[in-house]
Amino acid sequence: MANTDSIIKIEHLTKSFGDKKVLDDINLEIRRGEFITFLGPSGCGKTTLLRLLAGFLRADEGRIVMEGSDISELPPHKRLFNTVFQRYALFPHLDVYDNVAFGLKLRKTPSDEIDKRVRKVLKMVSMTDYEDRDVNSLSGGQQQRVAIARAIINQPKVLLLDEPLAALDLKMRKDMQMELKEMHKTLGITFIYVTHDQEEALTLSDTIVVMNEGKIQQTGSPADIYNEPINSFVADFIGESNILNGTMVKDCEVSFIGHTFECVDKGFGENVPVDVVVRPEDIYIISQTENAKFTGVVKSCTFKGVHYEMFIDTDKGFEMMIQDYNQFEVGSTVGMFIKPSDIHVMKKERTCNTFAGVMTSPTSVRFLGAEFECRECGLKEGDEVSARVDFDKIDLLDNKEDGTITGEVNFILYKGDHYHLTVVTDDGDKVFVDTNDIWDKCDLVGINIAPEHIRISKRV
Ligand code: ATP
Repeated sequence: MANTDSIIKIEHLTKSFGDKKVLDDINLEIRRGEFITFLGPSGCGKTTLLRLLAGFLRADEGRIVMEGSDISELPPHKRLFNTVFQRYALFPHLDVYDNVAFGLKLRKTPSDEIDKRVRKVLKMVSMTDYEDRDVNSLSGGQQQRVAIARAIINQPKVLLLDEPLAALDLKMRKDMQMELKEMHKTLGITFIYVTHDQEEALTLSDTIVVMNEGKIQQTGSPADIYNEPINSFVADFIGESNILNGTMVKDCEVSFIGHTFECVDKGFGENVPVDVVVRPEDIYIISQTENAKFTGVVKSCTFKGVHYEMFIDTDKGFEMMIQDYNQFEVGSTVGMFIKPSDIHVMKKERTCNTFAGVMTSPTSVRFLGAEFECRECGLKEGDEVSARVDFDKIDLLDNKEDGTITGEVNFILYKGDHYHLTVVTDDGDKVFVDTNDIWDKCDLVGINIAPEHIRISKRV
C-alpha cells in the first residue's frame, strides 16, 4: 500500500503543440509506492503528461520535482524512471534473455550479476522457461511481460506504463491486470499508468487522476471517484450514470425528474440549478407503485450477466437507466425510490453560454469570430460586451455551410429528456447546446443564433 510520502510533484505544467494547449496548468502530487492512473478520453493529454515525466518532451511552463530536486531539464536516461509502451518495442533480433539483459550489458554489469537479475525478473513476470525463445515467437501478452521485465531490471524508482495492455485481447488483459497488481505489490515501486479504460483504472489503481481537455478534473481513490464524482464529465466517464438537471430547493432537498427528493447535500443555496447524478444500481424498483416516490413504464430489459439493465420512462417524461437483480416485464408499470445518500448533487459549471464580444453596430455584435444580428440594446459600435445565450437557443444545422459559424460535436451528455452537447468551433471555442435531436460525436455542424436569443450586457 502506498504511504503518504511524496515522490513526485508536478507544478503548473503546461504544454502546447502549435497553438493547441494540450496540458493546462497541471498540478499533482504522487506518493511513493502508489499505483496512480491518468484516465481520460482519447486526446485529453494523458500520454503527453507521461512523456513529460519520462523526459521525452519538455514543458512550456511549470516543473517536475522528484524527491525535492527539479528534474524538468534532465534527459530521460538520467531520470530514475523506466517506461513500458503499448507496443512492446522489443529487439526482434535478440532472444528473451538478451532483450531483458540489454540495459545491464550496456552498463557493463558483471555477467553473473546479470544472470541473477535476469532470472529474478523473468520469474516475477512468469516467463522463467522462455529465456532462449525468439521474441517474435511469443504471444502479445508474453511479449509485454518481457517488456515489463526489461523495464524493471534496473530497479527504477518509478515505472511509467503507457496503455501497456491495450493491444491484448480481453482475457489476456484481465489476467495481466491481476499480474501487474501483484507485481506492483512485490516491487514496491511507484507505478504511473495511462489508460482510457475506466474499468482498468478502477481495478488497478490506488489513485485515479481523471483528465479531460488538458485539465485534471478530479483526483481520488477509485471509490471516491465512483461514489462522489465532482462534475458531470467524471460521472459520465466513470461507470454508468443518470445525469439530470435539477434544482436545489434548500439544504437537503433537491428536485429533479419532476419530483422533490430528500438528499444529504447542503450549502448550495436556495433554488439553485444543479446537476444531479444517480447511479443505475442506486434506483430501487418496487412493484407496489403506491409506496413509490415516482413511477414509470419499463421500456427495455436486458440481462447483463449479473443484473438486468432497464430503461424506464418515468411519470414526468424522463428516461432513466436502472440496474436490478430482478427482471421486470417490458410494458409494466413499476414504482421506484432513491435513498437520500445515493443522490449526488453537483454545482453546475455554467447555466448558459457566455461569449466575450464587441458591438459592431447598435444591432450587431461580434463574438466567436463572426458577426451576429442582435436586438437594439442601447449600446454602440466598439462597446465591449458579454453575449449570453441559453443552451436550448443555439440552432445546430446538418449542413455546416448554412451556419453563421461551423463546429464539431465534441462531447454528448444524455440528461434524461434531452442531450447536452459541447460543440467546438473551428477557432477552438466551446458552444454548449441543449437539444432533442440526435447527433454523433465528430459530426460537423453549422451554428446559428436568432437575434432575440442573444442577451447583451456591457462588459466593465
Ligand atoms: P490517446 O489515448 O488517444 O493517446 P491522450 O489523452 O494520451 O490520447 P495525447 O497523446 O497526450 O492524448 O495527445 C493530446 C493532444 O495533443 C492530441 O490532440 C494530440 O493529437 C496532440 N499531440 C500529441 N502529441 C503531439 C505532437 N507531437 N505534435 C502535435 N500534436 C500532438
